[in-house]
Amino acid sequence: MSSGFQKCHTLMITGANRGLGLQMVKTLVNSSHCPTKVIATTRDKSRAKELLDLAKKHPSINVVTLDAINQDSIEQASKEVESLLGDEGLNCLINNAGINVVSTLETVEAEQMMENYETNAVSPLMITKAFLPLLRKAAKQGTGMGIHRAAVVNVSSLLGSIELNRGPGAEFKTYPYRASKAALNMLTRCVAVDLTPEGILCMAVHPGWVQTDMGGPDALLSKEESINGVLSVIGGLSEKDNGGFLDYTGKTLPW
Ligand code: NDP
Repeated sequence: MSSGFQKCHTLMITGANRGLGLQMVKTLVNSSHCPTKVIATTRDKSRAKELLDLAKKHPSINVVTLDAINQDSIEQASKEVESLLGDEGLNCLINNAGINVVSTLETVEAEQMMENYETNAVSPLMITKAFLPLLRKAAKQGTGMGIHRAAVVNVSSLLGSIELNRGPGAEFKTYPYRASKAALNMLTRCVAVDLTPEGILCMAVHPGWVQTDMGGPDALLSKEESINGVLSVIGGLSEKDNGGFLDYTGKTLPW
């Protein structure tokens, strides 16, 4: 993990009960630079046993309920997190929760497009908006740009790259997912442009193709390999990465 974590005191990850979100929490709490407070959200605590067990062993983990497609739940979570963080504010928000609705041109339905768009694009924006007061509080206490001050990291995908949807990789014909991540990429840049004057960084990261429920068993990377890379990238973020799209090795991806 990069040194940026030394000064990142508070961090929140959505969809932290399994997959890449849970792996982020595990890697953070086992590192020497774990933030003092890690807010790990899940939409249903009754399906978050591994996360809750981890939180019992590591007092830095605070498990909070947040259903990304429910505005009341987002607002309730932001109040709960505000009371947990107090004057510190939030140094880093990682919008990780996502779904993959697979559909081809022949099978795609309007509902599938809306469902994927709602979870993967609208929700990260609504969550960012709801947690903005906490990000602002942290940003006012620092200088420069990065997770030592205030940053929003959107977990996107190479499949959201319009430029890369030709040649190798174009065989993944998943209309709802690709469109939702392309939308998330645009929202990332919009938020970055708006929040730059306040010193809040916003960027998108592609974690690689990873062996999770979503990535499947044939994926190229283990969760550990992916998240070691992702956290290294996040820890090293600075002004030059604001509004950018990087993969888990730090390579810039085309939009
Ligand atoms: P998983 O399917 O393993 O986990 C998805 C997580 O998102 C779960 O914790 C799930 O919670 C949560 N989630 C989904 N919908 C909601 C919701 N409405 N509210 C709250 N939480 C929700 O996926 P991954 O861990 O593989 O993916 C994590 C992120 O990485 C996603 O954004 C994905 O698009 C991205 N990504 C993954 C790749 C891969 O190869 N795995 C490749 C590129 C990008 P619950 O258990 O309650 O369903």
